[in-house]
Amino acid sequence: MNKGKLIVISAPSGTGKSTIINELMKNEELKLEFSISATTRPPRGEEKDGVNYYFLTVDDFRQRIERDEFAEYQEVYEGRLYGTLKSEIERITSHGNNVIMDVDVLGGLNVKKIYGDDALAIFIMPPSIETLRQRLLSRNTDSIDDINKRIDKAAYEISFAQQFDHRVVNDVLATAIDHTERIIKDFIEK
Ligand code: ADP
Ligand code: 5GP
Repeated sequence: MNKGKLIVISAPSGTGKSTIINELMKNEELKLEFSISATTRPPRGEEKDGVNYYFLTVDDFRQRIERDEFAEYQEVYEGRLYGTLKSEIERITSHGNNVIMDVDVLGGLNVKKIYGDDALAIFIMPPSIETLRQRLLSRNTDSIDDINKRIDKAAYEISFAQQFDHRVVNDVLATAIDHTERIIKDFIEK
C-alpha cells in the first residue's frame, strides 16, 4: 500500500477553502481524508467537536505543545491557536488515505518544510479583497470585528502565495474545483 501523502490547502479566510475541500472529498478516487485540526477558538454555527475541529482550552493546547504532540501549530489570530496533531496525520495515513489539510499560510509552508516531497501545497486566491469581504459577510458566521481582522490579514497572506507549489484563483467555483482536482491527481499519481 502506498504511504499517504499530504495535501495542504491555504488561503485567506473566506476565499472558499472549506467549500473546495468539501467538494474534493466527494471524489473517492483521490482517497482524501480531512485532517481535523485542534483550535482554541469557540465553535461557530453548526460546528462539532471532533468533526470540524478538536476544540481545546488554551491550557490543554499549551500542554500538548509541551508534550510535542503537534506536527505544526500557529497563533493564527491574536490569542487563537490552531494546530495539526501528529496523531491525526498518523490516523489518516494508517488507513491508506491521503491527508487533506486546511491550514494557515505559515502552517502550510511549515508542513512543506517538514514533509518535503510527500506534501503538496496549494494556495487558493480570492479574485479580489472586495470579493473576499462579500464572501465573509454573506457567510454570516463571524462578527464584523472578526471579519475586519481576517480582511486585514489577507494581503499579508497573499504575499506568500508564490512560495506554494500551485496557485488556484477561486472565481467561478466549478473551475477552481476542477483545477485543484487536476493538480492533486497529478501529485498523487506521481
Ligand atoms: P474559507 O474556508 O476559505 O474560510 P468558505 O469555504 O467558508 O471559505 O467560503 C466563504 C463563503 O464564500 C461561503 O459562504 C461560500 O459559500 C462562498 N463561496 C465559496 N466559493 C465561492 C465562489 N467561487 N463564488 C461565490 N461564493 C463562494
Ligand atoms: P477558521 O477560524 O476560519 O476555521 O480558521 C482560521 C484559519 O486557521 C484558517 O486560515 C485556517 O486555514 C487556519 N487553520 C485551521 N487549522 C489549522 C492548523 O491546524 N494549523 C494552522 N497553522 N492553521 C490552521
